[in-house]
Amino acid sequence: MKTSVMLTDSHCHLDKVDLTPFDGRIENMLDHARQAGVSQFLCVCIDMEHFEDVHRIARDFDDVYCSVGLHPTHQDGMEPDVDTLVRFSSQDHVIATGETGLDNFHFKNDADMTWQHDRFRTHIRAARESGKPLIIHTREAKEDTIRILREEKADEVGGVMHCFAEDWETAQKALDLGFYISFSGIVTFNSAKELQQVAQKVPEDRMLVETDSPWLAPTPNRGKPNQPAYVKYVAEKMAELRQCDYQHIVKTTTDNFNTLFKL
Ligand SMILES: [Zn+2]
Ligand SMILES: [Zn+2]
Repeated sequence: MKTSVMLTDSHCHLDKVDLTPFDGRIENMLDHARQAGVSQFLCVCIDMEHFEDVHRIARDFDDVYCSVGLHPTHQDGMEPDVDTLVRFSSQDHVIATGETGLDNFHFKNDADMTWQHDRFRTHIRAARESGKPLIIHTREAKEDTIRILREEKADEVGGVMHCFAEDWETAQKALDLGFYISFSGIVTFNSAKELQQVAQKVPEDRMLVETDSPWLAPTPNRGKPNQPAYVKYVAEKMAELRQCDYQHIVKTTTDNFNTLFKL
């Protein structure tokens, strides 16, 4: 009997994926991904107003989970406090807190980023209370991200540095805090030489793969709308970089996902 190990897309925004190629049906999109060997999906929340959308998808499909959180670049809408995040995250199929973190790229000229730091701290406090690991988004803010993770004792709950695109030094600091490193389509880009070296060095029991659909489609679909089926291209690239079997990447990244999120 053939036992097939399946891939996990550790970070996607299923409510945002273009369903035009799938007759407008999310189940067709998920079936397409399953046929490509993907059997688990973490649908990530980016604002409280859309939590119900991501939660409904997670409730509708056994192999879909979701998170709750407010993305660091969102400036409008409901600002959740610790209690609200903890309450939402206690619901079925909610396994993670985020995505949260810091993003200086979108706020290059803003001197005062206190609001972003405060929001990040709120999410870390909520995650420690709920026990639901953190999904960290960091862009051009690596020092502050690590500093706040340390100050808020994020190592007590752990989590994942999603769509990782930083240097090895930052990866090591995150690993020291017990965090996992998730690789997206960026690792397949020819220009991402430094990141590819990070992908070679990350300990086997700490790596994840993701699409971040509908953004950042991997090579050979770079520039097109992304979808969860394409996580296989990320896993293939990881196997090439680490000079190991594709199935080995599939198994370890899914095992790691299940360990981190206690599934
Ligand atoms: Zn992100
Ligand atoms: Zn995301």
